[in-house]
Amino acid sequence: MRRARRRHPFKIQFKRMQAVIAAFIGIAVFLYFVQRNVSYEQQERLMVPVDQAVFSEEEPQQEAECLILWQDDESGQKGLSLMESVLSQMKIPYDTCEGSLLNPAVLGDYETAVLSMTQYNLLGEGLLDLLDWVEAGGRLLVLYPPDTNGIFQSITRDLGIERLGGSMAVIEKLHFARPLMIGGQGKDYTITDPYESALVVNLDDSCQVYLESADESAVPLIWKKPLGEGTVVVNNMGFLEKAYLGFYSASYSLLTDVCVYPVINASTFYIDDFPSPVPAGNSQAIEEDYGMSISDFYTQVWWKDIYNLGKEYGIRYTGLVIEQYSDQVEGEFERNTDTQRYRYFGNMLLDAGGEIGFHGYNHMPLCLLGFDYGDDFESYRLWPSPADMEAGMRELEGFCRELFPDEEFRVYVPPSNIISQEGRQMLREKFPEIVAIASIYIPGGVAYDQEFRVEEDGMISTPRVISGYVLDDYMQIAALSELNFHFVNSHFQHPDDVLDVDRGANLGWEELYSRLSAYTEWLYTSAPDIRTLTGTEMAAAVQIYDAIGVERELSDGTLTLNLTNFLEEAWFLVRINEGEPGSVTGGTLTEVEEDLYLLEAQAPQVEIAIQ
Ligand SMILES: [Zn+2]
Repeated sequence: MRRARRRHPFKIQFKRMQAVIAAFIGIAVFLYFVQRNVSYEQQERLMVPVDQAVFSEEEPQQEAECLILWQDDESGQKGLSLMESVLSQMKIPYDTCEGSLLNPAVLGDYETAVLSMTQYNLLGEGLLDLLDWVEAGGRLLVLYPPDTNGIFQSITRDLGIERLGGSMAVIEKLHFARPLMIGGQGKDYTITDPYESALVVNLDDSCQVYLESADESAVPLIWKKPLGEGTVVVNNMGFLEKAYLGFYSASYSLLTDVCVYPVINASTFYIDDFPSPVPAGNSQAIEEDYGMSISDFYTQVWWKDIYNLGKEYGIRYTGLVIEQYSDQVEGEFERNTDTQRYRYFGNMLLDAGGEIGFHGYNHMPLCLLGFDYGDDFESYRLWPSPADMEAGMRELEGFCRELFPDEEFRVYVPPSNIISQEGRQMLREKFPEIVAIASIYIPGGVAYDQEFRVEEDGMISTPRVISGYVLDDYMQIAALSELNFHFVNSHFQHPDDVLDVDRGANLGWEELYSRLSAYTEWLYTSAPDIRTLTGTEMAAAVQIYDAIGVERELSDGTLTLNLTNFLEEAWFLVRINEGEPGSVTGGTLTEVEEDLYLLEAQAPQVEIAIQ
């Protein structure tokens, strides 16, 4: 809405005019200095990583809770490594055993078992022993749909299957039939590139279905069935991939009466290439939609929207600086003197509580001659030596210090998520202020994919899970999965996503922005208790998550958690399948989904009464 300007008769006296001119000059001078001198207030971080040596307590030796039975074929191995990843990060001790070598006598040593096998025949008599063990109180997770020929047909009833179809079902959409995962209700999730992945089954009435296909036939995908004194959970999805880990941790968490696992509790939004020079790209859509230059669009439209979205949800962005878009990889790295944009965007970002990190002197990944980019990134040049990589980074560091003298630059994001071993090592040795590398979570191409953990050399890996504005079906699944596995959101965007046809430029900024806001709304509605952190704070949270050890004991209606390497805080998700939580000592419990709670531990021992 525009307000009409009121017109006054032109009666201003000469002296008053002088005063007005003087005032204008004053304001102009003030603004000049505001822009020239750093106007942001130094930002206190909520938390920063500590010296790794602080975490000196040995994790106590614990008996394995779970036995993973696996088969030496493609699916069996995939399932094995997926469950090893899931259980080790849930800090649930486990053993593994090739199914054909199972000695059934050992089953009694375990509370739970996971079946990562395609041909159950390989278990021989062991299959019946396994079911006897469940009937006597064991908890079994069937990890993926097995081969239905042979012996499997004789045990379908034990798994709750009344009728087994002759073919596999193509699952196009997921629907939560009852609450299981945070963010799962109120929305169905579309599968990208669906294929025949699930068994067609009809279940008996004793089964509780949590996840099914969102169509007429409603193929059950995750269900739980009581069997004697024990429990069987079947995951019929068949998507043994990193983007689905949260579906498997959730399935596992249904087995025991109570399941507790540490989480990171962090939501972080990164803006790569920001601040940076005005990005190059296709500006046609912007000129048509907004009638302005790319540079004006970024200031007046894009940043305004992103900034306001941050304000609305309390997001404190982490911006990653690029000094130049040159392809220089050796020689003298010249200082970029055109700093007005950097100061404008950078100061606003910092004043809103955000953080600045390093991306690069330019956009050439820290890879030496001989590195193979594959078929992509043909325009990228390789650095002749570690010293050249260091010199480029050193110039970026000087540039950032000149612009933001009170900041510490602790987070590094590799250009295009690519970095070589040598580049990593150079950063570790020459830039000790960098404590975290934020690359990418889901593997792909030559990208450097990471886990949320502290690496052996002490660098903290804080991978980004999703990106951009299109936020397609696959990303929505990955986001849901990680919200449940690590209680994490980690998203990155680039200003030039708006200019790149592959990243949705043709949809127009209005549509792209509405998708990003729909995502943030979903996130903060589904998980209002998640902490919104900057990159450094996320690194500190990952360090705590990585270091924490947990011993669980459930007896006499009390769940006791004994924590090792507890400093001031630690976070857990707690699923209570049997009973309700009562009083809590040493922590605070908040319900985040039916039967699922976020626990903030405030002491090294936490007790939760279960009634
Ligand atoms: Zn970039």
